[in-house]
Amino acid sequence: LAVHLAGTCVDHGGTVLNYMQVTGLVKSRIGSVCGVMAEDGETGDSYTLHARCVVNATGVFVDEIIRMDEANSRRLVRPSQGVHIVLDRKYLQSESALLIPKTTDKRVLFAIPWHGRVLVGTTDTQMDTCSLEPRALAEEIDFILFALKNYMVRPPGRADILSVFAGLRPLAAPDNDDHTGTKDISRKHYLQVSSSGLVTITGGKWTTYRKMAEDTVDRAAMVAGLERKNCRTEDLPIHGSVADVDDHDSLRYYGSDADDMRALVSRHPEMGKRLHKRLPFSRVEVLWSARHEMARTVEDILARRQRALFLDAKAALEMAPEVARIMAAELGRDQDWQRDQIARFTELARGYFPAN
Ligand SMILES: Cc1cc2nc3c(=O)[nH]c(=O)nc-3n(C[C@H](O)[C@H](O)[C@H](O)COP(=O)(O)OP(=O)(O)OC[C@H]3O[C@@H](n4cnc5c(N)ncnc54)[C@H](O)[C@@H]3O)c2cc1C
Repeated sequence: LAVHLAGTCVDHGGTVLNYMQVTGLVKSRIGSVCGVMAEDGETGDSYTLHARCVVNATGVFVDEIIRMDEANSRRLVRPSQGVHIVLDRKYLQSESALLIPKTTDKRVLFAIPWHGRVLVGTTDTQMDTCSLEPRALAEEIDFILFALKNYMVRPPGRADILSVFAGLRPLAAPDNDDHTGTKDISRKHYLQVSSSGLVTITGGKWTTYRKMAEDTVDRAAMVAGLERKNCRTEDLPIHGSVADVDDHDSLRYYGSDADDMRALVSRHPEMGKRLHKRLPFSRVEVLWSARHEMARTVEDILARRQRALFLDAKAALEMAPEVARIMAAELGRDQDWQRDQIARFTELARGYFPAN
């Protein structure tokens, strides 16, 4: 969804950049925020980008950007880690999800059929620091496996986990003190404009992204002094949207782009082959994502375009050399690049196997 939202932005005339880290804010003589300084993660080149309004939507990292604006500002976000495990489908042989309404820490736990596997989660662990690559804690995995013991006929053990991954929820807690537990903090979104005009959006949910976007863009337009227009997001189809979806088509997630992908396969039949026997992903998806979806690394493909790493970490590791080969041919990279990419991905994937 995130990739297709970026595609929607481009379809409507926007420009999107990845691997471009904001390192500072640009301010005018009267102290208004009027741009950002950014560093290209691939070349190390620095840029100054001017704008009438800057929106800070950096998830758990919003406070870092806010401090570039006001060095002594109070912490806005409380990071809460959530862990999911992925199991073989045999553990939930149903089209329906299982909801455990009250776990020992008085939360809910879900087991959901997901891409031919079962997704189980989640936890709520308050964190003091934020990492770009958060790791599941051993006790979080134990907690999930323990909760399943009472509900599954054949409860899974650690060795049955196909992948385990962690994420950080950016919980907006402008009024909460540091002692409020993260599970008691509201999941609503929070929008603020600083005295120098930096617009920050945080908190909220994936499911409410359109409402979050509408509130943010309306406020940003006001800050930038743009003409008032009615927001169109509520009914705006996203990139690739199609009326009918064939549930048996492995390229269905690409929507209308799938036609162009099939045309590529008819010109290069080897691109239609699967990358791994346990997963439905084919070679053409690697080519497509490198050519049209700004994928730059093996990790981009296996974690952020095809989600193979989340479905079956071992299979993803086995796919890495072929993915590197296809990307290298498309992006004009050499053997050293392929070796480096495989090594980096192997190191990353280690974190997706539960430690015994
Ligand atoms: C465990 C877990 C469970 C969840 N469950 C649900 C659920 O049940 N329902 C639901 O709707 N949502 C759920 N969510 C989603 C969640 O609630 C948020 O909506 C989402 O994680 C935050 O999105 P975001 O866009 O604010 O931040 P992110 O997705 O983190 O995006 C922030 C982006 O900013 C970039 N960035 C950071 N710093 C910089 C910088 N200096 N320069 C440039 N870029 C930068 C980051 O690289 C990242 O791409 C869950 C999330 C987690 C982790």
